[in-house]
Amino acid sequence: MKRKSNDIPIKKSTALFFDLVTGLSPEVHSKKRMLSDMKGMYSDKDAYEIMLDQQDSLIYEFYELGIPKTPHHLAYGTTILYPGKVGNEYFMTKGHFHQKLATAEVYYCIKGHGMLLMENPMGNVEIQKFSPGIAVYVPPNYAHRSINTSSSGPLISFFAFRADAGHDYKTIETKGFRKLIVEQDGKPKVIDNPNWNR
Ligand code: ZN
Repeated sequence: MKRKSNDIPIKKSTALFFDLVTGLSPEVHSKKRMLSDMKGMYSDKDAYEIMLDQQDSLIYEFYELGIPKTPHHLAYGTTILYPGKVGNEYFMTKGHFHQKLATAEVYYCIKGHGMLLMENPMGNVEIQKFSPGIAVYVPPNYAHRSINTSSSGPLISFFAFRADAGHDYKTIETKGFRKLIVEQDGKPKVIDNPNWNR
């Protein structure tokens, strides 16, 4: 049965279904990020404009369940990141710091292959590979972005974080990550971001 809103009851226990093949839930609505929402995020601006002229593709979707933003609660859901590239850069999530910077997050990969790119304001970079069954812990202070390095299926992960952490997208939108994950000779490669803006 479809819920009318994503505000799930939180004074009782809740059980939600997330599909292990699609990552989607029939019970709550996902938020969608289209190619047009990713302006300025890919390094190859020309490739981005050409792609967008052809089609405004769905890049990823994820869940916001309306859980109260207090330290007592946990926000959770799935992210479904579709395969593709802009130029030679793989489809990725925008990536964010938490507004409460010193809050952690955990991702559990359900399906697909990719990476979780992380960096803290001091410039330390961490990269973990995603494959089904892998749980990646994002320590406090680290921005995080998922990257789908598969040419076929979606990268599906389940996430949970302190509900009052908040999202700071702006820092990454303006500065970018220090590293990019691109395809070179048919394989994912980590390179320095030539446009990284300190
Ligand atoms: Zn987060």
